[in-house]
Amino acid sequence: MTKKPLLEIKNLHVHYITNEGTVQAINDLNLELYPGETLGLVGETGAGKTTTALAMMRLVPNPPGKIVSGEVLYKGKNLVEMKEADLRKIRGNQISMIFQDPMTSLNPIMTVGDQIREGIMLHQKVDKATATKRAMDMLEVVGIPMERYDEYPHQFSGGMKQRVVIAISLSCNPEILIADEPTTALDVTIQAQVLQLMENLKVEFDTSMLMITHDLGVVAKVCDHVAIMYAGTVIEHAQKHKLYRTPKHPYTIGLFESIPNVHETTERLKPIIGLMPDPTDLPTGCTFHPRCPHAMDICKVEFPEVTHLSDEHWVRCHLYPADKEVE
Ligand code: SF4
Repeated sequence: MTKKPLLEIKNLHVHYITNEGTVQAINDLNLELYPGETLGLVGETGAGKTTTALAMMRLVPNPPGKIVSGEVLYKGKNLVEMKEADLRKIRGNQISMIFQDPMTSLNPIMTVGDQIREGIMLHQKVDKATATKRAMDMLEVVGIPMERYDEYPHQFSGGMKQRVVIAISLSCNPEILIADEPTTALDVTIQAQVLQLMENLKVEFDTSMLMITHDLGVVAKVCDHVAIMYAGTVIEHAQKHKLYRTPKHPYTIGLFESIPNVHETTERLKPIIGLMPDPTDLPTGCTFHPRCPHAMDICKVEFPEVTHLSDEHWVRCHLYPADKEVE
């Protein structure tokens, strides 16, 4: 039986209207997140990863941003068209988000325990005593002794603050956790601990996770599936091992060739030539064509559609014509 996605994005377009022109941040983006899976959303800075996450929660700042068209289907309901009051019941409750810098999420003048409790009381019909007990339990779950309930964010290290943010995000037992570069602001050893914690909690709470990152090492460690983004769209989407073994899109292949591989001896890394295009002036056709070693005439005029290569692997590239079995 084919699995149904818990969350599905279909043909999403998001623009920002600025004095410099229209920034086409998301362009015909498709994405699927399945129950219990961790999906890595990978791309360089400016690829549109954070805008994708904000669009999933319908939090794109308007103005200057606008969801121009497309659907974000959560359990079949389109969040793009949902009433704000209904959406508020989903945000932070059924879909929760962890941002890159914990300090932007925490209130500096409120104790960490009260911040966890506040989230619980906002979304669940429980009394104060029950919410306090649950907040204490959540501190312990993320490895912080409950005795620290009455301390303030400045009394915690960066890694501990991110643990508090994780506790707040998971306190309502969301079905989907969106983590936007959750370890980027932390040093390397703390990064590993926080990733391990997130992995353990995902299993314990049975949460589906969207892990936004530019780091293929993080993906290798925690993700089941991977979506590669380029210039505002997903250009390849596959089960992790499939993508690492047999990447198909020239950009994905370029990404792997541009990072060190400890299992292979490589004389020199091969960076992808050129730069990510200006989102106010995207190339016609396939947006990767000015940088692609395989570009053909059609690539300059036609944006490739999705081609399913197998059950858990799709790509958008004219090298793989629609409906042709390649694997
Ligand atoms: Fe290269 Fe064409 Fe494929 Fe784009 S569609 S990645 S330009 S071969």
